[in-house]
Parts: sequence; C-alpha cells; structure tokens
Amino acid sequence: MAVLKLRIAGIIPESIVDGPGFRFAVFTQGCPHHCPGCHNPQTHDPRGGREVSLLVLMRQIWHSRQNLDGVTFSGGDPFCQPEPLYHLARWCHRLKLNVMAYSGWTLAELRAKPECQRLLNEIDVLVDGRFMIAYRTLEMRFRGSSNQRLYHLNHGEVVSVE
Ligand code: SF4
Repeated sequence: MAVLKLRIAGIIPESIVDGPGFRFAVFTQGCPHHCPGCHNPQTHDPRGGREVSLLVLMRQIWHSRQNLDGVTFSGGDPFCQPEPLYHLARWCHRLKLNVMAYSGWTLAELRAKPECQRLLNEIDVLVDGRFMIAYRTLEMRFRGSSNQRLYHLNHGEVVSVE
C-alpha cells in the first residue's frame, strides 16, 4: 500500500460516547454540510486540521487494540476522504475491530457516490444524515437529531435499522 494520508481534526484513543463499547475515535477534517447548530464547526474547513499518515494511526490503534471494541470515523464527514479510510477500515477488520462511521449524507446519497462504495462496504454501523436542530434529541443513542438513522450493515447491505 502506498503511504496514505488522512486529514484529521483529532483523535480520542478510548471513547465511550462515539459508539458502542470502547472505541478509538478518528475525527476527520472537512465537511461540506454546514448543519446549523453543528457541535464541531472547526472541522468544516477541508484545509484545516492536520494531515497524518495512516501508518501513524495504525500504530496507535495497534497499541490500544486489546482495550477496544472498535473504531469510529466521525468528523467532519469521513466520506469526504473515502480512500484512506477504506484502507484503515479493512485493516481494523483484520484486527477484529468493528468499524462505525458518521456521515452527513444519507445512506441513499452515499450509495449514489461511486467513490464511497468501497468504504461503505467496510462499515458495520453507519449513522447517517445531517444534524437538524429542529429535530435535536438526547433520547436516541449515538445520534443528535431524530432524522438520523443508525444502520447495521454487512458489506453495504442493511441488516437492521434503529
Ligand atoms: S455533517 Fe456533522 S460535522 Fe458536518 S456540519 Fe453536519 S453536524 Fe457538523
């Protein structure tokens, strides 16, 4: 694999709020959706944040792997950088870590983006859709607004929906 890079806003090596169990959370940099009320506006600028080599992230995940249930790609919108995240997700699966991702695009919108299919096929749990302040809720796990759906996926096919 060529040395792939990812532009990130930051990481949380052991998060308990970015998906089920203990998770290594990667917050990608760059988001085109600009949802009013977004909690992470500093992640919107695609030129912001910092660039890291996938190898650096892999080394960090490797060292934490025994404490982790999985890895979460949040943002920003991770699907703005599908190629490096596809490779990272595949590698996480080899470590038996499940992979969750957030996106401001809906699942249907992601399916219409050819460049996102390989990454989508590696995602086990997807929270989709823009944050809509009119539908803001604290009641739905891992989601900020009730228009968002949490999909359990298997090779891109929906297994169940919350
Ligand atoms: S998709 Fe997420 S990161 Fe992007 S603007 Fe909406 S809430 Fe913020």
